[in-house]
Amino acid sequence: MVEPKGKGVRTCIGCRCQSGKRDLKRIVRCSDGSVRYDATGRLPGRGAYVCSVECMNAALKAKKLQGALKVAVSSENAAAIAEELGKAFAEDEGR
Ligand SMILES: [Zn+2]
Repeated sequence: MVEPKGKGVRTCIGCRCQSGKRDLKRIVRCSDGSVRYDATGRLPGRGAYVCSVECMNAALKAKKLQGALKVAVSSENAAAIAEELGKAFAEDEGR
């Protein structure tokens, strides 16, 4: 996958939809190799975008998340990210 530099179009790694209709959430690989949900969208490191928790889980299962971030993601790590994403998307719903 070729990642556009700067303000390119963001594509969900799960369903490949592009930002516009729905906000995509960023998952980032930190310098220490851990993977986390990036609430600010500004953390340094390689990032991947998802439009829903379902897409995050689908991308994880298909190893697309690992491929996009070029790092292994443990099940504990994935569960933590899914929880954070779930909260973030729930907050969006309430806006
Ligand atoms: Zn998606």
